[in-house]
Amino acid sequence: MAEQVPELVQEIESTPRGGDFLFNPVGSRPFMTPERFSEEQRQFFATGTGFLQSDVFPAIGRIEAKDNALLRQLLGKAGELGLTAVDVPESFGGLGLDETTSMLVAESQSGYASWATTFGAHVGIGSLPIVFFGTPAQKARYLPDLASGKKVAAYALSEAGSGSDALSAKTVARLSPDGKHYLVNGGKMWITNGGFADVYVVFLKVDGTKFTALIVERGTPGFTQGREEHKLGIRGSSTTPLIFEDALVPVENVLGEVGKGHKIAFNILNVGRLKLAAFALGGMKWTLRASAAYAAQRKQFGKNIASFGLIREKLARAAAQTYASEAMTYRAAGAIDDAIAQLPDRGDPQGVMAAIEEYAIEASIMKVTGSEWMFQIIDEGLQIHGGNGFVEDYPIERAYRDCRVNRIFEGTNEINRLLIPGMIFKRAMKGEMPLLQAVQRVDEELADQAQFSPPVGRLAAERRGAEMAKRQFLFAAKWAATLGPSLEQRQEVLAALADVAIEAYAMDSVLGRTLAASGDTVLRDALCKLFCAESRERAFARARSALCDLVPPGEIEAQLQQLARLHKFTAVNTCEVREEIVPAILEAGGYPLAY
Ligand SMILES: Cc1cc2nc3c(=O)[nH]c(=O)nc-3n(C[C@H](O)[C@H](O)[C@H](O)COP(=O)(O)OP(=O)(O)OC[C@H]3O[C@@H](n4cnc5c(N)ncnc54)[C@H](O)[C@@H]3O)c2cc1C
Repeated sequence: MAEQVPELVQEIESTPRGGDFLFNPVGSRPFMTPERFSEEQRQFFATGTGFLQSDVFPAIGRIEAKDNALLRQLLGKAGELGLTAVDVPESFGGLGLDETTSMLVAESQSGYASWATTFGAHVGIGSLPIVFFGTPAQKARYLPDLASGKKVAAYALSEAGSGSDALSAKTVARLSPDGKHYLVNGGKMWITNGGFADVYVVFLKVDGTKFTALIVERGTPGFTQGREEHKLGIRGSSTTPLIFEDALVPVENVLGEVGKGHKIAFNILNVGRLKLAAFALGGMKWTLRASAAYAAQRKQFGKNIASFGLIREKLARAAAQTYASEAMTYRAAGAIDDAIAQLPDRGDPQGVMAAIEEYAIEASIMKVTGSEWMFQIIDEGLQIHGGNGFVEDYPIERAYRDCRVNRIFEGTNEINRLLIPGMIFKRAMKGEMPLLQAVQRVDEELADQAQFSPPVGRLAAERRGAEMAKRQFLFAAKWAATLGPSLEQRQEVLAALADVAIEAYAMDSVLGRTLAASGDTVLRDALCKLFCAESRERAFARARSALCDLVPPGEIEAQLQQLARLHKFTAVNTCEVREEIVPAILEAGGYPLAY
């Protein structure tokens, strides 16, 4: 197939790097997709969904009434099936499986958000600090019981006065006169599993200055949990403050090094963000199932509402977003697995952590898209339910309330949007990303009209849209870079750049997946076309908005014209495309590409 868009970097690096989707052409490197899951990975997913159906769904009423004892019991049962052991090394009672399986298990536990949050906080941000940063003695003491679900973990970073600005925490620890304990004073806020966890990873400042993580056990003298919060959503999950009044914590419980707690806090959040995307993916599929079932049976004007174009449009868009989200989520998980496979010692937790950090840009992208796309899909799902969507008898009402928090925790979406271009510029400045080289290439391409020939071949307009989104990012990034350090203060510009990068990653992933897949090309191509038709327009609109905020008035018209050359509106009859998708949704009773 003739390549219609030239490459942005001269040579593609042999080792994949986080963020390289911005520079490499679509499909330049194969990546993990649902089509490539192993039998074992599929089996774990099936075990997880089976458990959710048989044990969690029937318990929803009791969990919503805040039955923490039941949550503990369910975690134990999940443990018996190995679902809480996936990320824990075999030497400490776990299964030591790959990131892809870990994400599949997370996705499998989604469909009732209070449970997903409880489970996610335990296996993810609660247990992983000990997996990655614990001493052998700490691992031996805590991990076997966390892996089996006998004990429950929580992660305590936020405080009443410090959420996004987590490093300004006021909780303090001082060494006791005999040097054997830390005396902890202060309080944490909004801690998931707070009311019933056994093991808390608590971030505080030793001597009021050194940001540090401590493992604090339930029952520690001077450590208590406050009352359960009354929340908009995820009401069945436990969220409490933690109170420390001269709490006595043994010095052996320092996790990592004194003064290096930020490394633990932020690295663990990267994993938390990826896992949140996997949970959100499960939520998208649950919603599509509920919405398709409702639309198929609800009659108005003598017809099923599923026959109306505006309802079909919502179902098709939800399926396309879900398809893209699958591609993005498992691509990131597979990239981490590949990076871990290249480590000299795959069991080295620091190496594993570095492999995860490499994909921090993707983690922030996944956090934003997972939470926002799920919210859109649930919002439209509720709309499909009409008045019934607004009453408690239908679970979509709860899902609508439950999903709102995803834009707030694991770093708000504002913070994650700021992080995306922030990390890109930082890596470029360190010479770890060929940003400058690629920016120059875009300038050369713009100077030479012949560089852009018309698209040819399968999904050609979509491929061109993806390559152009990357160029739009680079074009706007060039202007953003002229601001120097003051760019940090221009948050709207950074958020617009983040959005262009998000769409570029989404299109690159959905296309890479679709072009590599065999079988059912009609459905996959349609999902890809529908997603890309909207994504490339969003990318262009956000690149334009970044430029308008950046370029001086005398130059803006000329620069907008240049940007316009990096975009071509391609007509897509989305009504026709969606008819390749909706019958499959209605026949499957939900998302049509089950694992
Ligand atoms: C149900 C629930 C469960 C939670 N579970 C946990 C948990 O298990 N462990 C834990 O440690 N925490 C947990 N949290 C806390 C959560 O992580 C914080 O609420 C979140 O980080 C935001 O902090 P904040 O609420 O203080 O908001 P703030 O930081 O005060 O932010 C308020 C608004 O200002 C914006 N903002 C803040 N700073 C900036 C900036 N620099 N630039 C632009 N905008 C900015 C934010 O995006 C937000 O829109 C939980 C919260 C909830 C609601």
